[in-house]
Amino acid sequence: MNFWENLKNSLLFLLWPEFCLCCDRYGTLLCNRCFTQLAFLPLPVKISLENTALDHLLSALEYDEKTKKIVHALKFQGIEATGQLCAELIYHTVLLPECDLIIPVPLHPKRQKTRGYNQAALIAKHLALLMGKPHCPALTRKIHTSAQARSKSREDRLANLSGAFALTVPPCTIQGKTCLLVDDVTTTGATLNECAKVLKQNGAKTIIGVTLAHGG
Ligand SMILES: [Zn+2]
Repeated sequence: MNFWENLKNSLLFLLWPEFCLCCDRYGTLLCNRCFTQLAFLPLPVKISLENTALDHLLSALEYDEKTKKIVHALKFQGIEATGQLCAELIYHTVLLPECDLIIPVPLHPKRQKTRGYNQAALIAKHLALLMGKPHCPALTRKIHTSAQARSKSREDRLANLSGAFALTVPPCTIQGKTCLLVDDVTTTGATLNECAKVLKQNGAKTIIGVTLAHGG
């Protein structure tokens, strides 16, 4: 996050420290009433990809209207506390396995520059703190997917993702490791799967996709 974004968000947080992200009620980022209305998912979520490089996919919530509001705040407000809230929702509701590294799904550098931060990394960073494991941004996104490309058919989107990710760390960092691969939302699991492929091709042992929400 750049300096001005950081300053803006800090000021926003000082002025409006605790409004519920779902219903705007004052008091906390997620009020009790909205928390009890969240659609928690049974685990693990089954994804429909064939020959998936992901060993499991664990998601906390169904991507419904309430969850959308949380994800929207995470993506566009860039408030650190929202990343922490998402990480806590995952940490306290999903039975996370033992792991060695926590890796966020990367944004294309161009999009990250526009947004000022990577929302998946915001969750991954706080999840790493909660679990006492290293946060390791081991991947980069080489291909920028336009809104037009995202609206294409499933086959086109899968072809589009092929070769979209690359490793940014020496392979020895991930060799033989069990990695949690973190994103905010997954729909088909295709993005997680492409990331998992790159990690496995470079020697990672097990890749478990972990997202706040699934569906959409
Ligand atoms: Zn609420």
